[in-house]
Amino acid sequence: MLGIKEENISIHKIYELLYEAYGPQNWWPADSVEEMMVGAVLVQNTAWTNVEKSLEALESFSPSYIRNVEHEELIRCIRTSGFYMQKARTLKNLMSWFQKYNDDILIARTKDERIIRSELLELKGIGYETADCMMVYALEKPYFIIDAYTRRIFERLNIPLHYNYLKAQAYIQDNLEVDVQIFNEFHALLVKHGKKHCMKKPRCISCPLGKYCYYYQSQEESIAFI
Ligand code: SF4
Repeated sequence: MLGIKEENISIHKIYELLYEAYGPQNWWPADSVEEMMVGAVLVQNTAWTNVEKSLEALESFSPSYIRNVEHEELIRCIRTSGFYMQKARTLKNLMSWFQKYNDDILIARTKDERIIRSELLELKGIGYETADCMMVYALEKPYFIIDAYTRRIFERLNIPLHYNYLKAQAYIQDNLEVDVQIFNEFHALLVKHGKKHCMKKPRCISCPLGKYCYYYQSQEESIAFI
């Protein structure tokens, strides 16, 4: 491995290698669009295992149920996801917003995507990452999702992303075909890779990106010089 550092890998190649290694991820892990949207709010600043407990505790994901359920009951159900006061408010706001589309994702999908995205971003508790998860996995619109896994993996591949979300997103979208199916799969693959290999303390042995990874190769080189 030493001495054969490759040129920077292309963004499409990262996608190809991850897809080859892990296969299709079939995201989002939910049985309905409503469950997907609830999950996207609950997963903010917490692990998915905590969200799963909240999803199990909820009696229904239907928009009318979320809108009408007692605030205290909603909080009780989603407590495991943390920040439950704020998340309960966000869920109610989200489902009130959805009502203007008759709680029908097919109607929402026909609306201008920029309008939909800005409506989501106006809701308290929904930032770019959460909004773009909904844009991709519920509304089927191509917005590349930037999250901590993406930043860490790209940085280690010597493609540091701008700290500004929109600039980081624009950079990737300028260097990758804009395709909702690719964005859907790519985000899921990056999460998978960030959990399986590229954790804070990475497991680089047998990593599918190792050949192109500056971080890994610089570690090997520094060990070789000891
Ligand atoms: S080689 Fe290591 S640091 Fe590089 S992408 Fe793979 S797991 Fe991450």
